Amino acid sequence: MSKQVRVRFAPSPTGPLHIGGVRTALFNYLFAKKHNGVFYLRIEDTDQTRFVPGAEEYIMEALEWLGISPEETVEKNEKFGPYRQSDRKELYQTYADQLINSGWAYYAFDTPEALDAHRKQHEAEGKTFIYNHHNREKLDTSLVISSEEVAKRIANGEHYVIRFKTPVDETLHLKDIIRGDVKFETNLLDDKVLFKSDGMPTYHLANIVDDHLMETSHVIRGEEWLPSMPLHVLLYRAFGWDAPEFAHLPLILKPIGNGKLSKRDGDKLGFPVFPLEWKTEEGISSGYREKGFFPEAVVNFLALLGWNDGTDKELFSLEELVEAFDLNRVHKAGAKFDPEKNKWFNHQYLIKQNDADLAKDFSPILVEKAIDVSKYDVTRIVSLIKERANFVSDFWDLTDFFFQAPTSYDEKASKNWKEETPALMQELISVLENIEDFTSVNIEAIVKDWLTKNEIGMGKVMQPFRLSLVGALKGPHLFDIVEIIGKEETISRIQKAIAIL
Ligand code: GLU
Repeated sequence: MSKQVRVRFAPSPTGPLHIGGVRTALFNYLFAKKHNGVFYLRIEDTDQTRFVPGAEEYIMEALEWLGISPEETVEKNEKFGPYRQSDRKELYQTYADQLINSGWAYYAFDTPEALDAHRKQHEAEGKTFIYNHHNREKLDTSLVISSEEVAKRIANGEHYVIRFKTPVDETLHLKDIIRGDVKFETNLLDDKVLFKSDGMPTYHLANIVDDHLMETSHVIRGEEWLPSMPLHVLLYRAFGWDAPEFAHLPLILKPIGNGKLSKRDGDKLGFPVFPLEWKTEEGISSGYREKGFFPEAVVNFLALLGWNDGTDKELFSLEELVEAFDLNRVHKAGAKFDPEKNKWFNHQYLIKQNDADLAKDFSPILVEKAIDVSKYDVTRIVSLIKERANFVSDFWDLTDFFFQAPTSYDEKASKNWKEETPALMQELISVLENIEDFTSVNIEAIVKDWLTKNEIGMGKVMQPFRLSLVGALKGPHLFDIVEIIGKEETISRIQKAIAIL
């Protein structure tokens, strides 16, 4: 790659960042880092009607949480600043004028009411109204009136927009890094609005001007922008600028059925589609962070939505992703979102965490349950159960018996409590009472020795023993539990079980 790689994530702050947007940001980040380039963030807020307060901050916070913050953005290394389009407003007019002067654009004075009437009339005839070469000279445009008249109407404050004058009868053969050659007929394109009389550019104009001024080398974005590609390439041509390279990423699809993953799918199946929680008056949308996902796990599963390194490898650190990432290996076909797989990824990252760190994360939950954390070796407890957890929030259900005696006994498991059980448990108590060195290995050796010597079947004692301590036939190695809860508590729980069962 000859020129310096500069790629951008260019969200519109219209709400919380959807997980698809996060994947776009991630792929840009990976591509930039892979090629020693720059990943920057530009806020595309030219459509003020869709502006949502807090969305910009949300985007920044989400990227930061994921560890993929941009190198340049609003208030950070503003080399080509400002990085918020509403702060660049003054700039776009000149470029719109330039296109008017070179004949690549024209003024259109049609009022919204007039356009609506055209649309309705077409609909009535079973047709779709499209504003382009076939009718632009019959509509109220600067193409058919004198420049004096145009100037006068603008000076009078008449409503107008500036539209792109799409060339006629051309087949565009464009290159997309992921899709290869893509073909577009210019006659089928509409003359998109580039600029409005309120002084604001539309997305198309602002996006091209900024990508040029900010020296964007590659445009990596979602597939939904593919239909805009011909207009964008033509705009570069109109300005006489080199176009960046394009790569349109595959859609992220619903876990079941067809179509794009939506927030509703998440609500229905109980998984977040946003990186961070988003609160509005209408309610709370859950976020991966608040659900207890590790940012590394989110990055990892997003990277594999539409990409792999050509092997079966699934677990990648961010550094490994940077190393392995290749836009040429991104798939064309949509990528199915698998919430179960996401949990698996989180599990993989959870078991890699240091036990002491996990214990620290678990502590607030214990405190909430009124457990005196200082009395327990939470790190050890966590080490015994983390293999069975996907999230730190699973820990309580896996460990509650370490901290409190069971209050009920699993019904099915209680069937193992037989006639002879109380007597055996009583004997077990005597055995335990005499153990000096109350450590897991030693207790196990002594109890097993007692069983062998008296020819008592393992199951006859071990299952009721576990049931007494845990309340169910679950949990880690029984003698680890015995050691951790201690002699006194163990005996008291067996006595309680004898009394109740
Ligand atoms: N502002 C557009 C968006 O919201 C950016 C599209 C692009 O990357 O060109 O996704």
